[in-house]
Amino acid sequence: MIFVLLTALFLLTVFILIYLSAERYTSEEFYLRLKKRVSISAQAYLEEDELSTAIYEDIRKKHLQTLPNEEEQIYTVDRAENSLMPSEIEPLTSAFFDEVFEKGNASIQIGNKYYTGLFYPDNQGDFVIVLSAEDLYGKGKMNNLARTLISAFVLSLVLLYVLGQYYAKQVLKPITDMTKKVNLIRAKNLHLRLKTTNTKDELGELAQTFNNMLDRLETSFEMQSSFIHNASHELKNPLTAIIGQTEVALNNPRKKDEYIETLKTVETEALRLDNLVNSLLDLAHIDHDAQGLIIEPIKAKELLTEIMDGLEGKSLNRINFNFDFPPENPDKLIFQGNHALIKVALLNILDNALKYSKNESIDIVLKALENTIHISISDKGIGIPKNDLKNIFEPFYRGSNARSYKGFGFGLPLSHKIIHLHGGELNISSQIGSGTRVTLLLPNQCQGFKIAR
Ligand code: ADP
Repeated sequence: MIFVLLTALFLLTVFILIYLSAERYTSEEFYLRLKKRVSISAQAYLEEDELSTAIYEDIRKKHLQTLPNEEEQIYTVDRAENSLMPSEIEPLTSAFFDEVFEKGNASIQIGNKYYTGLFYPDNQGDFVIVLSAEDLYGKGKMNNLARTLISAFVLSLVLLYVLGQYYAKQVLKPITDMTKKVNLIRAKNLHLRLKTTNTKDELGELAQTFNNMLDRLETSFEMQSSFIHNASHELKNPLTAIIGQTEVALNNPRKKDEYIETLKTVETEALRLDNLVNSLLDLAHIDHDAQGLIIEPIKAKELLTEIMDGLEGKSLNRINFNFDFPPENPDKLIFQGNHALIKVALLNILDNALKYSKNESIDIVLKALENTIHISISDKGIGIPKNDLKNIFEPFYRGSNARSYKGFGFGLPLSHKIIHLHGGELNISSQIGSGTRVTLLLPNQCQGFKIAR
């Protein structure tokens, strides 16, 4: 509508200008004809006495075809006063005659009539000849032009409106389609996507951006629902065991040994619950309370030694610690971090290596790279199936081949979060049946890393 309105305004201005200019041209043309005729007329009448009858007839024939409603008036001028006798002749005013005296001629339009006056000094006296006529032909032409312009204007508007509607619909169709599709998307069908035919134009880009956002939302929705599902499941198992055990114990009077047995099972399950709840709290704590952490310089080599010192002798014997090339700059082995958290992260990874590789040896490699500290922990254990690798950092996710091993699926997500919090990277490469390598990259002290808040 705005487009049609603006174009209508533009057309109206152009058409009015065309009309006014044509009107000016037509009337100028008519005045010119009047002027020519008034001078011929003057000559024809006033020089009649001096011309031969033949020439006079010729002039009349050639030039004096009368104009529509043509009238000729010849007025005598009072030479002494330089004025007409009488001075005003309806509908002409004295101003008109003053101009005639001053300039020799004057023109004026009154109503439909055009007047041209000519001052004509003659041997018989001074005269003013006034010729008036209607420009019927010009008027017809102008009416015709007005009709044409009005029809063109109306037709253009109708055409513009129809084409505008059609074009606007065509242009807006993808947006209308998108709106309809977006309206269908709910939490339950987050898998729906918008069609992206051409990703190079703005609409395609918008659809692509929207789809990307849906991808992220869907992933986080799925992660949340699987987290809730797994968390409830993990919480329910020990609770069911506790309730079951206590119900059986309370059903009948039991011997002391049986009560002790039941209480032991209850204790084990309660400890399992405690463990789980603590892990959940750790995870929530890292998510929401990074500000309160104490950050200090940590020496990577000392930290690893401290972790290994905490292990039982049996486990320790399986570990080979490789640290062959101490860097020239000792700062390259120091990083900024929270000691307790980093220890938890490394312990989780080391525990997994020990747990999933039976009695095989484990290699820990420490290297100082230019900007990062590289720690890798490799085992020759059961490995992680390829399909599980992409989900391995999701809380509660456990490898399909790890179900027979104890665990909640909490260690790796926690370690991952901790390493990320320290501006580092945690990468896993694994081959099912041959082993797993977990690599940690932490920015060293030279990097001036600040913990992500
Ligand atoms: P948990 O060990 O309690 O199951 P984690 O979060 O530590 O939980 O590990 C998640 C999953 O990753 C494990 O269930 C296992 O399938 C796999 N995983 C982790 N580390 C190893 C490893 N060193 N070798 C084989 N599988 C591993």
